[in-house]
Amino acid sequence: MFIDLDRFKTVNDTMGHSVGDELLIQASRRLEEYIDDDSLVARLGGDEFSIVVTQAAYSESSIKSLATHIVDALAKPFNLRGQDIFVSASVGIANYPFDGDDAGVILKHADTAMYHAKKSGRNNFKFYTAEMNESAVKRLQTETLLRGALDRDEFILHFQPKVSLADGSISGLEALLRWNHPELGLVSPADFIPMLEDTGLIIPVGEWVIRKVCETLKRWEDNNLGVVPIAVNLSARQLQVKGLAKIVRHILEEYGIHPALLEFELTESVLMIEPESAVEILREIKSYGIGLSVDDFGTGYSSLAYLKRFPIDTLKIDRMFIKDITSNHEDAAITRAVIVLAHELDLNVIAEGVETSDQLELLVKHGCDQIQGYLFSKPVTSDECAAMIKSSRTLAIRFSEPDFA
Ligand code: C2E
Ligand code: CA
Ligand code: CA
Repeated sequence: MFIDLDRFKTVNDTMGHSVGDELLIQASRRLEEYIDDDSLVARLGGDEFSIVVTQAAYSESSIKSLATHIVDALAKPFNLRGQDIFVSASVGIANYPFDGDDAGVILKHADTAMYHAKKSGRNNFKFYTAEMNESAVKRLQTETLLRGALDRDEFILHFQPKVSLADGSISGLEALLRWNHPELGLVSPADFIPMLEDTGLIIPVGEWVIRKVCETLKRWEDNNLGVVPIAVNLSARQLQVKGLAKIVRHILEEYGIHPALLEFELTESVLMIEPESAVEILREIKSYGIGLSVDDFGTGYSSLAYLKRFPIDTLKIDRMFIKDITSNHEDAAITRAVIVLAHELDLNVIAEGVETSDQLELLVKHGCDQIQGYLFSKPVTSDECAAMIKSSRTLAIRFSEPDFA
């Protein structure tokens, strides 16, 4: 069994290495509890652990049950510096002699299975299959290509409009990264952002995104286009960069862009882990007049306390809740409650992933401020976006009496 902690990097990056060490110690203790005398548990390095279950009598079902126990044990909160921190784990399992006949191969295949567990949403386990190996080879090739992508100028930005529900006008844009792969064509961020984060490449690429957004705003301003704020997604790793706020301000000054035209979107898992340094960086960014949004709101293990600690302007309700909002009572209730919560806290609220006019109608009814989604537009190129702004494209909204819950 190859075990990898899911959010170890975030803890290390935001809470410091001594807290990361403490987490590793606590995680090993939990693993030991499930191991009998014949088996072995070891730390391979970083946040990677391995368990060798040697008992020949172990059946697939008992291995499954062990893996389930381990995943559950590591999903429970860790108490670090007086705070409950959730990390969870992904586990890959390979079986001697079926999946390989030496230790190196078994370990490699368990690692591959772990990667698949991670990819299918973390906090679970997977058994190795031969098809997984092909994709592991592909992954390595991708990583090599990705390393040179910035220099070869293969990244591009698409932009997706955000629409104000007050009048249906475009109220802002979100910059979404695409990789123009030499063979595969446009690759979606879900397939390469995790790799950028793992390799640290997200730092230079993230800075490129901010730069490109400012360059785009400058070009549009020069062409007298009515510009709107553009949001950039920030990863946890980027908040670790000392002087990030200064770098951002420097880029804004270089292009002569008003800070109110830039926004950052951060997921709550980034905000939840108490990052004193992140609070400072975000306060500084905010003090320039740059807006801050919580992305995918409602999907992390959120402690709502961060809403007080961070200088946030906007909550983005995750697509997961919006998807079935018209048919699922719970999703509708959560969405309505988040809208009320946001407004009580003087925050803006935007619904993402709005695809149908029925969803729109419900959101209008509940007093949501903005929407984003395929209903109005998919992410498009900067030229297509400029055309949309130029023609003042608006969303037709059928207004009913707002229903303030
Ligand atoms: P996100 O920030 O939650 O972005 C929204 C995603 O939902 C985008 O996927 C967008 O294309 C998609 N989407 C928008 N409207 C709809 C809709 O109506 N229906 C459906 N089904 N999907 C919709 P995309 O572009 O593939 O981006 C995926 C994720 O990658 C983003 O999620 C964001 O977390 C990350 N990402 C993208 N660009 C960057 C970047 O420059 N830096 C960082 N750190 N992350 C980025
Ligand atoms: Ca986003
Ligand atoms: Ca989102």
